[in-house]
Amino acid sequence: MKTYPFLDLGLANKPIEDELKKAACRVIESGRYLHGEETHLLEQEVASKCEAKYCVAVSNGLDALKLIFRAYKEMGLLHEGDKVIVPANTFIASVLAVSDNGLEPVLCEPSELTMNLNPEKINGLLDDKVKAILPVHLYGTACWSETLKQLAQERNLLIIEDNAQAIGAKASTRGLNGTFATGGLGHASGISFYPTKNLGGLGDAGAVITNDEQLAKIVKAVANYGSDRRYHNIYKGYNCRIDEMQAAMLRVKLSVLDNETERRNIIAKTYNQHICNPLVIVPHIFHDMVQVWHQYVVRVEKRDQFREYLADKGVQTDIHYATPPHLQPCYYELRDSKLPVTEKLANEVVSLPIAHPITVEDAVEISKIINNFNA
Ligand SMILES: *Cc1c(COP(=O)(O)O)cnc(C)c1O
Repeated sequence: MKTYPFLDLGLANKPIEDELKKAACRVIESGRYLHGEETHLLEQEVASKCEAKYCVAVSNGLDALKLIFRAYKEMGLLHEGDKVIVPANTFIASVLAVSDNGLEPVLCEPSELTMNLNPEKINGLLDDKVKAILPVHLYGTACWSETLKQLAQERNLLIIEDNAQAIGAKASTRGLNGTFATGGLGHASGISFYPTKNLGGLGDAGAVITNDEQLAKIVKAVANYGSDRRYHNIYKGYNCRIDEMQAAMLRVKLSVLDNETERRNIIAKTYNQHICNPLVIVPHIFHDMVQVWHQYVVRVEKRDQFREYLADKGVQTDIHYATPPHLQPCYYELRDSKLPVTEKLANEVVSLPIAHPITVEDAVEISKIINNFNA
């Protein structure tokens, strides 16, 4: 029986194995393993991809988001106890970045159509303590709207994007800086280069992107022991640096990102055209945006039966995410939040295979298998 792996990173990296090895040799021979040319070039390339001016490459995606909040505190724009609106249906790192900085996460329900922050639900959460919003471009679909833009402009809220899942995606309306690419829409954004992400390294890495020179400088300093120059520390900083080896791997991956995104788009379209089963809700394709399909997520009420049925047929699936942050033991204080849409999605979402080496033919076959599911 043919099997369809959910994700096999070794196979996914196979087509560029030679380039990766060459880049690794280049770094080994350079004798420079931190603060070098690869990091510098990666920063330029990622900034340009996000249509923004500055990029500071760091240790991982969670650190990127944490550094942004910390830098805004250093700038006096955020203070301990301020509230930040965060989607309730996100990977827990989005919420961790907020609470880690002594800020209070305010969880907001998603829209069932976009599975992203529902802009209509934001107004009811606003009060004088809300100082920022953290939209997450979940599964690779931009979370951006005129409403968000107006909130930023009229109520002076900071918009910090969690772009961990959406590099290369585009919104349908312009961001605060007049551009469309996610990561450059708000005041600052964090990205993750975790190996399973669309632009994934061979280890941990991430980046902060912004058009604000002062913010970029503070992030860079805080991420390097808080020093603005050698042995001169202006902040009580951390070590959140990226290394040259990872930067070099990521530059190779970035050179094929557009192809990979195109491939994911074709497979998503194939699934949407071929899946026809009243028990399965497919994700919406927004023709006025560029979606990058970090995950292709369907919704099924009888999820356990569906996943078991697919596993029997050789189709591996995953769940992103089965337990929302407010139901995790570490966020006991958020446990009583009323988030019915979030909980419904958490109970129904299933991610289908979409990464390389899944082909269009595979997607057609998987769709046929799905169409024969009747619980
Ligand atoms: C992966 C991810 C993060 C965290 O990134 P790491 O590099 O794993 O620290 C944050 N937010 C979202 C939405 C993610 O998917």
